[in-house]
Amino acid sequence: MPEKQQKAWFFVALLNWNKVKNDRIMPWKGEKDPYRIWLSEIILQQTRVEQGTAYFQQFVTRFPTIHDLAKAPDDVVFKLWEGLGYYSRCRNLIQTARFISEQLSGAFPTTLEGLKQLKGVGGYTAAAIGSFAFDLPYAVVDGNVLRVLTRVFGVAEPIDQRLGREKLDKLAQELIDISHPGLYNQAIMDFGATVCKPKQPICSDCPFAGRCIALKENKQSFYPLKSPKKASRNRWFYYLVLEHADGFYVRQRTQKDIWQDLYEFILIESEQVQSEVEITQPSYWGLTKKEFPAIKLNVSDEMIHVLSHQRIHCRFVHQVVKSTILLEGYHWVSRSQFDQLPFPRMITRYLESKIQ
Ligand code: SF4
Repeated sequence: MPEKQQKAWFFVALLNWNKVKNDRIMPWKGEKDPYRIWLSEIILQQTRVEQGTAYFQQFVTRFPTIHDLAKAPDDVVFKLWEGLGYYSRCRNLIQTARFISEQLSGAFPTTLEGLKQLKGVGGYTAAAIGSFAFDLPYAVVDGNVLRVLTRVFGVAEPIDQRLGREKLDKLAQELIDISHPGLYNQAIMDFGATVCKPKQPICSDCPFAGRCIALKENKQSFYPLKSPKKASRNRWFYYLVLEHADGFYVRQRTQKDIWQDLYEFILIESEQVQSEVEITQPSYWGLTKKEFPAIKLNVSDEMIHVLSHQRIHCRFVHQVVKSTILLEGYHWVSRSQFDQLPFPRMITRYLESKIQ
């Protein structure tokens, strides 16, 4: 662990770099409004800044205050979230907005513990909101920060295991400049994103070059260490896109699983690959030949969606039918209603390629 005087060199060098060289622009930078900070942090969890920025702007335009977001119907918020993935974040966003709007009269908690009580707000997000909005002296520890600290201080424990993580959280807290916690936190994240990057860090122009252990050992790509990855689970999703009278049969995914609360076509999930011959049989979908004639059948190629521990293999069988069909759990929606519903990215990718 760094000595007392080492703490000062770290934040002095960092804040000096921030003042002289940091030109990273982000729409929420310097923001003091906890609502906008919270929104940006939730959007940025598991999302790149480049992708998250457009979503952030759409959200603050559509919902300028937390009360506006709290009043919005679920489907409207999910539709705006569409494409960002990890939909549990969106569910938590809605619940937290309603809680703060209705129970706290729109005011965010001003302590770390109070912030951590909010749904979807863990230690990292609480420290970010607390330090940016209320100058609370807590270090944020995201992927950028972990990379910088493991490299500069040569921390060789895996960052995704308890011991390594505790050590780094403690180190981060020891290093923070408690007089400027928000400025310090933003600076270290910007530094990790623009200088101490995952690949090809710019060591030749780094204020820590003289002390950095990774540079000294020429082991920049060794840090940060992670545990070996678990094998991912394969799932095969076969969708029947049943089109009737300029509308489609859909259902909402209510089970606790990926894409919860989003909409989808008629689904049969399998633990193994199914042949095209199989998935174009009426009986595969529990339908009769009359309900599912073999005309106008269109089958997509396999599309793959990779999630953190799952690979979803997906094929779509598109069929236009003349008469109404009764399908338990599914209902028909007109195309204009359909356009308002939120779908998983996999389905919107298919729609963009096939139906527009
Ligand atoms: S010297 Fe290189 S590896 Fe070390 S902190 Fe600076 S940019 Fe990162």
